[in-house]
Amino acid sequence: MKALTLVAPKKFEMIEKNIPVAKDNKVVIKISKTGICGSDIHMIWATGYGAGTNFVIGHEFCGVISDPGNSTNFKIGDRVVAMEIDSCLNCKYCNSGHENICDHVLDGGPGIGTDGGYGQYVAVREDMVRLIPDSVSDILAAMVEPAAISLHGVNLAKVEKDTNVFITGAGAIGLFAAACAHVKGANVTISEANPKRIEIARNSGFVDNVLNALDENISENLKKIAPAGFDAVIECSGNKNASTTGLNNLRKGGNMVLIAYGEQPDINVFNFVNNEYHLSGSLFFTRQEFEDVIKLMEEGKINLEPFAKVIKMEEVQKTLENLEKGIENEIKYIIDMND
Ligand SMILES: [Zn+2]
Ligand SMILES: [Zn+2]
Repeated sequence: MKALTLVAPKKFEMIEKNIPVAKDNKVVIKISKTGICGSDIHMIWATGYGAGTNFVIGHEFCGVISDPGNSTNFKIGDRVVAMEIDSCLNCKYCNSGHENICDHVLDGGPGIGTDGGYGQYVAVREDMVRLIPDSVSDILAAMVEPAAISLHGVNLAKVEKDTNVFITGAGAIGLFAAACAHVKGANVTISEANPKRIEIARNSGFVDNVLNALDENISENLKKIAPAGFDAVIECSGNKNASTTGLNNLRKGGNMVLIAYGEQPDINVFNFVNNEYHLSGSLFFTRQEFEDVIKLMEEGKINLEPFAKVIKMEEVQKTLENLEKGIENEIKYIIDMND
């Protein structure tokens, strides 16, 4: 099979690898589409994660079962998606529905601890695999993982009907968070600096207010929307100014959730005492949330497919270089693995 591997920081090479085999409760998936994640760029491509070891990255993918091994739950040809969180299912976190913070979550997940979605086949433990409903396309199915990341943040922010929520950053994670919050009946405000993404958020149908993050009147505009502050702020930009703006517009007793990795937010903890703010980090998602996202996609309630650009395996290197230069600015890049 063909696979992309890092040979040095910022340098992918196409290699030939053996197709993995189905053993140890694993099934083999022939991959159809793989999403490029922000962390693939900043934490993996740029740093050369696993460089020189023929390791294959990629944790957002879908495909069909090509070898079910011993599994009785899957058969050849089943359309599936897999989660990358390798929870042990046998610790206090796993037993209480917090398997996203299990000590073993990073051990063997595809694209993290074992070969992942930038190759044409992947082997995944069958309990990490879920069926894709017929009505969900491959392109959308490749986005189940980032959407689950967003839903987890929205749940931690305790977003429900009529919650006034402010989301900073309108990339894939911010827009999926907006879509999930909208489904729950929240009033959704989003800020973004990139003009193309501002336009996409405006036309998305699930954002009530779109603000330009670079507008010097942004704080006044936020005050007009939520005079006493927002019930919840979800940081999805990785930008220090955005997190500061978010925090300055949180209401007393409100919930601030950090999803994005990026610049260190400038946070004064005593502000949290004085205003009884709640701050929560958001890591991965629970299995329930992964399944909830698949259901929401099946029902047509969350869909970023119109904002995805499909590229070939050969174009990944160039695309990441262009993304770094700021030349490319689509919401999501999906690799067609069928060559
Ligand atoms: Zn990701
Ligand atoms: Zn565990």
